[in-house]
Amino acid sequence: MPQGVLASYKQFLPINEDTPIFTLGEGQTPLIKSRNIVKTIGCEELYFKFEGCNPTGSFKDRGMVVAVAKAVEKGIEAIACASTGNTSASAAAYGAYLGLKTTIIVPQGNVATGKLAQAIAYGAHIAMIKGNFDSALNIARELADKHPIELVNSLNPNRIEGQKTAAFEIVDEIGKAPELLYIPVGNAGNISAYWKGFKEYFELGFSTNFPELHGYQAEGASPLVTGKVFENPETVATAIRIGNPASWDNAITARDESGGLIDSVTDEEIISTYQLLAASEGVFCEPASASSLAGLIKEKKNGTDFQNKIIVCVVTGNGLKDPENAIKISPASYGEYQNDYQSVEKVLIN
Ligand SMILES: *Cc1c(COP(=O)(O)O)cnc(C)c1O
Repeated sequence: MPQGVLASYKQFLPINEDTPIFTLGEGQTPLIKSRNIVKTIGCEELYFKFEGCNPTGSFKDRGMVVAVAKAVEKGIEAIACASTGNTSASAAAYGAYLGLKTTIIVPQGNVATGKLAQAIAYGAHIAMIKGNFDSALNIARELADKHPIELVNSLNPNRIEGQKTAAFEIVDEIGKAPELLYIPVGNAGNISAYWKGFKEYFELGFSTNFPELHGYQAEGASPLVTGKVFENPETVATAIRIGNPASWDNAITARDESGGLIDSVTDEEIISTYQLLAASEGVFCEPASASSLAGLIKEKKNGTDFQNKIIVCVVTGNGLKDPENAIKISPASYGEYQNDYQSVEKVLIN
């Protein structure tokens, strides 16, 4: 298969002869088979679609490459987005590769260090506002309305087009769609994109079944669960700290058409799952990404029987984005020892 989302999935994307084809290596991320958590869940097979392996460390790259290609095709020389961090890292990387002026608007104090470091390194113009993601998005939309700038948030339909390719990869690798797919939900573009992908693959005859989509928000930012906008969303999972999802209606459609659900997990559940996934499966994700598996674990605790099911949890972003959380949560994970063999050997019995 050719490298990158544009070249690999040309026939499924809004690409024509004027669309530039390029890649930073996005897509074809690993579908990691669970060895340990699968036993607790009691299902047939459990997989983690690890989107943290994309070039900037999150699934945003799949959609960004398409959005940026379409902007360049139109002759646009500047892109902008609001972001909780990952969209800005991705926009800044592709913007740098294509020589575009990239402006990002982020909520001050609520962007993980790694993500901010990326945007700075890639040379984006960064506006940090004293407001949350939802107000950053309003400002970004206005910028794009008033200037020749392409908005590369997931409101941009090309983002959704690129992101749907993750569903294709899952079907190709398992040989069919899983029975259940768990996914973190923030602005709700990704759950909409997966549903589009599974439906298109089905309609084209590449699969014969659909998964039920189980979307998980953080309890302190769960408007799709309560049906009400959250004016002040609050959660440790900053990537899904969103009170008024832009793709609200599409997420509800994905939920209902797939026969699934959208529910929430607490910050405690998110953090314990985040630690579990790293320590028992070797998959280090950022906190928001753990909400999918946290949701599955919650359903198991509530008594759901998963026998004979093939389940995929989407793990949306890389743990290296947010190193502070990992260290803050278990500050006493290491001891200090004298600089000699005997002292250090004691680490074995600790
Ligand atoms: C963007 C993002 C999400 C949320 O995706 P939406 O499309 O906004 O629902 C979840 N996890 C990570 C790591 C993200 O970067």
